[in-house]
Amino acid sequence: MALIVQKYGGTSMGSVERIEHVATKVAGFVQRGDQVVVVVSAMSGETDRLLTLARSVNPRGSQREFDQIAATGEQVTIGLLALALGKLGIQARSYTGWQVPIRTDGAHMKARIQGIDPDRLRADCQAGVVPVVAGFQGITDAGAVATLGRGGSDTTGVALAAALAADECQIYTDVDGVYTTDPRVEPKARRLDRITFEEMLEMASLGSKVLQIRAVEFAGKYKVPLRVLSTFKDGPGTLITLEDSKVEDPLISGIAFNRDEAQLTVNGVPDRPGIAAALLGPVGDANIEVDMIVQNVAADGSTDFTFTVHKNDFDRATEVMRTVSAELGAKGVGGATDIAKVSVVGVGMRSHAGIASQMFKALATAGINIRMISTSEIKISVVIDEMYLELAVRTLHKAFGLEQPTAA
Ligand code: ASP
Ligand code: MG
Repeated sequence: MALIVQKYGGTSMGSVERIEHVATKVAGFVQRGDQVVVVVSAMSGETDRLLTLARSVNPRGSQREFDQIAATGEQVTIGLLALALGKLGIQARSYTGWQVPIRTDGAHMKARIQGIDPDRLRADCQAGVVPVVAGFQGITDAGAVATLGRGGSDTTGVALAAALAADECQIYTDVDGVYTTDPRVEPKARRLDRITFEEMLEMASLGSKVLQIRAVEFAGKYKVPLRVLSTFKDGPGTLITLEDSKVEDPLISGIAFNRDEAQLTVNGVPDRPGIAAALLGPVGDANIEVDMIVQNVAADGSTDFTFTVHKNDFDRATEVMRTVSAELGAKGVGGATDIAKVSVVGVGMRSHAGIASQMFKALATAGINIRMISTSEIKISVVIDEMYLELAVRTLHKAFGLEQPTAA
């Protein structure tokens, strides 16, 4: 018998038929003897609808009231799922965030969970009742409903699993797991059986948007085994877990990519202490996030300074750079928005040399020029021309042996 927290997303709760399907799935676990605590999202599209409604009345209104309105989406689905479970003869009881209670700080629309009192949920489980908890919401010390930010139900699921010391937190969604890369770019992408928290964070922040990043961080911090699975297709999904010294980790787990970055270069900056700070300080002051940074001294002793920002920030960053570059007496500012970042991710890299050169060789053979490189302990990223992105992803996917074995 296991204690499992199951979170069902908006698509899984999208209609009465789908809610009844979820009830059947939950009933299956209960009948096999597991204790299940369920967390749900609002019906797909509902949170958007509620926020649009709120904005139509007063776009700059109090965030407390926005939360009050947005949180109602989940209040509907917990009740519906509890009803659907009851129809199947499973005892169930619905809970909003404040009824659990799930306590949060006062940062409306992006609140953080500060504590969960698991007693009621535990008592239900022991009495054979399935608690159905509203995701995405909690209660502040001031007694206001607060939401955790878009996609926040994933975090509710993980936090409940941590508070209950559950054996596993299962995130049910419309994909059947985490893939080696985006199957829309590489049809031979393969579902991973397992991936570490750290790798998942690299994959998620680089564009494989299966899970809210905060939920993965939370799960890693509290060591909650997390599994991503499909509501609609049976299968083992992908287990997101700690590194396991008993299991030989694959060298590379996946190829992540990001089309949203743009590159800026300041040419001919005098080479002296304080230049990087002088260039990037004003960028930070303008609230522009910088990702990769490369600085190089040319033969004439001046420096070329290159960095990437989000495409949406490119124009603003260029303006800031023009001002600073004039002040510093640099030669000029250039840039490109038609770039993309491709990364190979894998904890196995820690104990193996030569991954970078294998990556660069594969790209060279495909005729792809590398504009920038950055590395971390478990990731190597390159910036290339955007038009070669799909070729690069497929080339690296193949070079690192990530493909599905072709059916005989
Ligand atoms: N319903 C909320 C949203 O759409 C929370 C969630 O689905 O995780 O963002
Ligand atoms: Mg979601």
